[in-house]
Amino acid sequence: MELIFERSRPGRGTDLLPPLDVPACPVPEEFARKEAPRLPEIGESDLSRHYQALARRAFGVCDGFYPLGSCTMKYNPKLGEDMAALPGFTGIHPLQPGHTVKGCQLAMAQTEYALARITGMDRVTLQPAAGAHGEFTGLLLIKAYHRHRGDNARTVILVPDSAHGTNPASAAMAGFTVRNIPSNADGLVDLEALRAACGPDTAGLMLTNPNTVGLFERDILEITKIVHEAGGLVYYDGANLNAIMGVARPGDMGFDVCHLNLHKTFATPHGGGGPGSGPVGCKEFLAPFMPGSALCGNGGEHSIGQVRAFHANFLVVIRALAYLMRLGNARVAEAAQGAVLNANYLKRKLEEAGYTAAFPGLCMHEFVLTLEGLKKETGVSALDVAKAMLDDGIHPPTMYFPLIVHEALMFEPTETEAPETLDQAAAVLADILRRAKEDPESLHAAPHSTVVGRPDETAAARHPVVRYSFPEG
Ligand SMILES: *Cc1c(COP(=O)(O)O)cnc(C)c1O
Repeated sequence: MELIFERSRPGRGTDLLPPLDVPACPVPEEFARKEAPRLPEIGESDLSRHYQALARRAFGVCDGFYPLGSCTMKYNPKLGEDMAALPGFTGIHPLQPGHTVKGCQLAMAQTEYALARITGMDRVTLQPAAGAHGEFTGLLLIKAYHRHRGDNARTVILVPDSAHGTNPASAAMAGFTVRNIPSNADGLVDLEALRAACGPDTAGLMLTNPNTVGLFERDILEITKIVHEAGGLVYYDGANLNAIMGVARPGDMGFDVCHLNLHKTFATPHGGGGPGSGPVGCKEFLAPFMPGSALCGNGGEHSIGQVRAFHANFLVVIRALAYLMRLGNARVAEAAQGAVLNANYLKRKLEEAGYTAAFPGLCMHEFVLTLEGLKKETGVSALDVAKAMLDDGIHPPTMYFPLIVHEALMFEPTETEAPETLDQAAAVLADILRRAKEDPESLHAAPHSTVVGRPDETAAARHPVVRYSFPEG
């Protein structure tokens, strides 16, 4: 497909402005460009068709089933977009006098309050602009707490080996040393290994529950107790809170700090580089270290300081508030229950079709298959199966994650899928399994129907071409 620059023809455009009929006001010399910018010149219809054609090559939740585990696109209701587009929310400036934006402040305060109730935390800041940014902020709180007590030996953050990659990265960025905690055969935190790793150098543990393989840590109270007894704090990665929101609260499990991804669980699309929001909640004893909040203005007495300019990615917060107000108290739990029900339904269907779950028993909002056996038997890999799904209009699940499961495919159907969609996906996967055994070659070559099939992912990551070079002359 031609690029927009390649479709450009000199003199063409969409410019319908009448000729200038007032005196021209030239840009001062020192600010003026030396050369005209090389913008594409193209007629309006061709321009629309170009982007429409590009959009048809993309795949989103409005195109089909999208069971990408862990970081999935969850529910992005259109209502949230309408609310975030209201002129009262879009037509403001962060430096406007406070008394002229009372409604917006109230919306932020309501969101803080709702998120505090959902997480079981006492304080919430909306400042962090992403999940990883929330982790970083939370870790700075933990650091400030230990420093404030003069406990400077606590330099280690414990992270389970199944953790999301941002966890160890954030801990390293916040200046901690990262120590891995192995999982046991059931995919849960190994309590003995945790006990052995805890000591006077433990600053804290980062954990998500349900964990990254979709399992609820049954011993969570014991886990948080072990860390607390060693003098550390416990951090909750709540990026995907939809498994338990309204049903169980990190604050009640013994967690001291947490973040949420509003751009996953609370109605803003995730991915594509759009704005995110990773609010952080904490227990009262950490409040003096918090950055500012909508209600309290500046941060507490020993604040770590602002972690972002102004208040928040405000319109993402509005979408979250609209989502929560629309659901109301009772139905927040219903959304979580739907997510868990759908995941278990699909898991069972795939097991019946002959797939192997990495961990048996009930899962939470997502589950992991291992295709190690299939690969040994037929040579067909998790990648081949994921690619084959594309031919049936299904977005592949998360592949090769978490690292502790070989040939992993991680599915998260989300609460909004109808049983028919799950049945159809299970049928597609059953058929792929049959083909893997009868005609493995056809799967090595999949997908057959997409514009791009198997790009060189290593080259794309190592040598990305993100800039157009004009031909010389
Ligand atoms: C997505 C995710 C993160 C990171 O969120 P970003 O907004 O992408 O930085 C952290 N932890 C878990 C479990 C996640 O799924």
